[in-house]
Amino acid sequence: MLDVLVIGGGNAALCAALMAREAGASVMLLESSPKVWRGGNSQHTRNLRCMHDAPQDVLVGAYPEEEFWQDLLKVTGGRTNETLARITIRASSTCRPWMHKHGVHFQPPLSGALHVARTNAFFLGGGKALVNAYYRSAEALGVKIRYETPVDRLELDGGHFRAAWAGKERIEARACVVAAGGFESNREWLREAWGQNAAGEWPADNFLIRGTRFNQGVLLRNLLDQGADRIGDPTQCHSVAIDARSPLYDGGICTRIDCVSLGLVVNRDARRFYDEGEDFWPKRYAIWGRLVAQQPGQIAYSIIDRKAVGRFMPPVFKGDQANTFEDLAAQVGLDPVVFATTVREYNQACKVGHFDHQILDDCHTDGLTPPKTHWALPLDTPPFYAYALRPGITFTYLGVRVDEHATVHFGGQPSDNLYAAGEVMAGNVLGQGYTAGVGMSIGTAFGRIAGTQAAQAALKQAAPVAA
Ligand SMILES: Cc1cc2nc3c(=O)[nH]c(=O)nc-3n(C[C@H](O)[C@H](O)[C@H](O)COP(=O)(O)OP(=O)(O)OC[C@H]3O[C@@H](n4cnc5c(N)ncnc54)[C@H](O)[C@@H]3O)c2cc1C
Repeated sequence: MLDVLVIGGGNAALCAALMAREAGASVMLLESSPKVWRGGNSQHTRNLRCMHDAPQDVLVGAYPEEEFWQDLLKVTGGRTNETLARITIRASSTCRPWMHKHGVHFQPPLSGALHVARTNAFFLGGGKALVNAYYRSAEALGVKIRYETPVDRLELDGGHFRAAWAGKERIEARACVVAAGGFESNREWLREAWGQNAAGEWPADNFLIRGTRFNQGVLLRNLLDQGADRIGDPTQCHSVAIDARSPLYDGGICTRIDCVSLGLVVNRDARRFYDEGEDFWPKRYAIWGRLVAQQPGQIAYSIIDRKAVGRFMPPVFKGDQANTFEDLAAQVGLDPVVFATTVREYNQACKVGHFDHQILDDCHTDGLTPPKTHWALPLDTPPFYAYALRPGITFTYLGVRVDEHATVHFGGQPSDNLYAAGEVMAGNVLGQGYTAGVGMSIGTAFGRIAGTQAAQAALKQAAPVAA
């Protein structure tokens, strides 16, 4: 019988498969996508967040455990399991030589990304290169890989894994790692989770999915239906504001609109609704998806003037452009009078000091609600640009409860051979909020733990019983 069955084909699954194989287990990995789309959301990533006490190859300065932990505590508002969070943090300081051994290379961030050069290690070639390297290494080590094999359900005996079902095929194994992502690609489930708002809208109908279409949450639901302990809130997720013209799936990183902090953002009523300069963009980009989701029609518009051009990563598609506020409003379908009034009130409220986008500068508004607390420069230099924004969902946080061995729990009891890693359990560490790069830190840490534990459980079962 097969020792370890790994379900999923992204970072967490590959880390689990590699570790289980290295521990001497026979391993098969089932990926629901065709080969060209393998790698789930992991193929879209760029970096992972790493603890380090001193400079390490591409990482500058130090990012000690306590600082990483405080960052996580802050963004989650305390909705995190400290033990599991600290396991993730510590593992992030030691995983990179292992990743390197399996073909993953690192590079410094692009110039200008000062705030992440200390905390985040970037993959050379991005997540696609990372995933390809892991697949190559897994194949070379003898991991059996099957594409286009979506698993529909698990056959469990209490909390004990017996087999996985893919259509009519029953696949037995001594232990199993579920690393099949969240439910972010399942539009029906998102609709159900977000419900209807006071205006009678179904906000999730206007969400775009930044990553893979294959994370339908089939196994998450199946596990919860079979009594796996649940963690997290179905409406909590990582969600950013992306170009409203992005494709429904797999738009990836290049659809992000990164000029929010350099201008102002209005909703469909041409009114501002949040402080665009609250904090550095890497610390705030992940709140804007939710903010846009809360606006009428789930749409908003990021507005800048010519001064901002060159100060942010240019979007793939050009924005709408005009020389007057009224013309710009007409182009994007906003009320020209209300829009021009909103911008003029903002311009008049700007107290310009010394503009510096690399620090929390002293350019702010006075007497405006909501305020803009940093980088507030009047929009006075045409042309003016508008980018329509939609909520772009990255991944969901509802998951199964695990312990420090990545074991799935049923009624408070750990399974003896079923493990979970990556998005399907990320909610144990991320109850809400996000800090850049921690998704890959969680998947790498718990993927590796799950693989090791699954191999141990399988090999224990396989060993002859002592007389
Ligand atoms: C555009 C984008 C950019 C991102 N950038 C970063 C970043 O730079 N740093 C970071 O830390 N995080 C980033 N993230 C988040 C990151 O992608 C996830 O946290 C991480 O990839 C999760 O890994 P995973 O293995 O759990 O899930 P995935 O990589 O999504 O893998 C899940 C896998 O399961 C497969 N699957 C699903 N259902 C089944 C089934 N029933 N049967 C078989 N297989 C199934 C899928 O096909 C997929 O291969 C980004 C996400 C997106 C979308």
